[in-house]
Amino acid sequence: MSKRAYLTLESWKLVRGIYGELPMRVSFFKGLPWFVTRPLVEGITLGENIYLVPDATVDVVVHELYHAVNQKMAAGVIPWFLRPAYFRYALLFVLNGFSYSRHPMEKAAREFATKNLTLQQSQIRALREG
Ligand SMILES: [Zn+2]
Repeated sequence: MSKRAYLTLESWKLVRGIYGELPMRVSFFKGLPWFVTRPLVEGITLGENIYLVPDATVDVVVHELYHAVNQKMAAGVIPWFLRPAYFRYALLFVLNGFSYSRHPMEKAAREFATKNLTLQQSQIRALREG
């Protein structure tokens, strides 16, 4: 079960420093949807909703926002489940042998987060308590 959550001030500042003003309003949730599990996945983006494991670090947020911003730019107002990016994601997942680590859209998001955060920053806890 996931519930609405908010970023810590420290992680929000890092996110704003990297992305500036986001092209859409995003909502964060503590807890993953039923169809994804750890340890493979620590976050998932469905449209403007970003689901995170409770102890997620800010690098996961930067990673998921990379997906969210790219999808938004590509699709505009189309609901997330009809967006071409999701079909492309699924197709590339199959073509890459169901490998999350080899998936090119994952690789791009990982590299973006690594490039924009120091190792120390990437370990900052993302979600506020309560
Ligand atoms: Zn990803």
